[in-house]
Amino acid sequence: MTGITGQDGAYLAQLLLHKGYRVIGAVRRASTLNLPRLAALDLVGQVELNTLDMQDFTSIVRLVEEIAPDEIYNLGGQSSVQASFKQPLYTGQTSGMGTMSLMEALRLIAPEVRVFEAASSEIFGLAGNGMVDETHDFHPRSPYGVAKLFSYWSVVNYREAHGLHVSNGIMFNHESPLRGMDFVTRKITATLAQIACGSQQMLMLGNLDNARDWGFAGDYVGAMWLMLQQPKADDYVIASGETHSVRDFVMLAAQAMGLDIEFVGEGVETRGLDRKTGRQIIGVSADFYRPSEPDPLIGNASKAHKKLNWQPKVNFEQLAAMMAESDLERARNGQVWY
Ligand code: GDP
Repeated sequence: MTGITGQDGAYLAQLLLHKGYRVIGAVRRASTLNLPRLAALDLVGQVELNTLDMQDFTSIVRLVEEIAPDEIYNLGGQSSVQASFKQPLYTGQTSGMGTMSLMEALRLIAPEVRVFEAASSEIFGLAGNGMVDETHDFHPRSPYGVAKLFSYWSVVNYREAHGLHVSNGIMFNHESPLRGMDFVTRKITATLAQIACGSQQMLMLGNLDNARDWGFAGDYVGAMWLMLQQPKADDYVIASGETHSVRDFVMLAAQAMGLDIEFVGEGVETRGLDRKTGRQIIGVSADFYRPSEPDPLIGNASKAHKKLNWQPKVNFEQLAAMMAESDLERARNGQVWY
């Protein structure tokens, strides 16, 4: 598994260990290993870690030969859309070319290995306002989306041209208490929790009206595993089928922490006031707006429901409450968790 130190890596490792797998994580060489997510699920020591650099083809070949895996889950790469505007080439190399390199390595030395590729709803981008499924056109709106589209087609091509058992999970946004602070949901719950505990004054956000189809990462990793158990590889949209705005998420998270917020003003003038004290605790800054955004995408996961028999268990309200409660607990214990 690449990306084992990330949110999905931790939940997927937990699922696979539970099923009796030997789980080997492929991590970039770094002076300190980033293990808080694995530690949060008590998995450090249960997974093995090995070095891999997706930009170095020989390191992919070496590791695949050494481990001879039955399944590969490719979750690694630069995962923040926002950061991709600042690091477009790095994002392209890891999240785009990295997948092509993996495909080529498997074609050459291990064509029987089954692969899950973490594709992204960002490949749809300008998709209009309806629901999107696997047949929808692509029009990515960020360097991240462009890289992920290259990766998506690499998988499709190696499946069609060389018969590899490789599947794209076109993953809509999925969050959890293990989400990184780069992402808006976690930024909201972590900062509001600190405000509720008096250790932070203000939450600054970008466009509150942007909307996403948000699900729970713990549910979504189940779909990844299911894809690799199918006799035939295929591509699947994994989504909740609902879209909500950043503002909706703020309101639900605040409610779960006992904060009562009222929004006044418009656009960058919007202010979120704590009704109890009248104090402003939320502001909007153009710094967090992006040069381009996708349409408010809603995913249609009927194919995954039907063919994989996959159903998510946690809905949007439960997700916001789960993240809010977990960050409130961390803030009460004086823990800053990124
Ligand atoms: P993404 O869908 O992978 O880009 O997930 P994010 O959680 O980073 O962003 C979701 C949406 O929240 C996007 O439309 C952002 O523009 C919007 N957003 C608003 N304020 C913020 C913010 O402060 N940080 C981030 N990351 N996103 C924000």
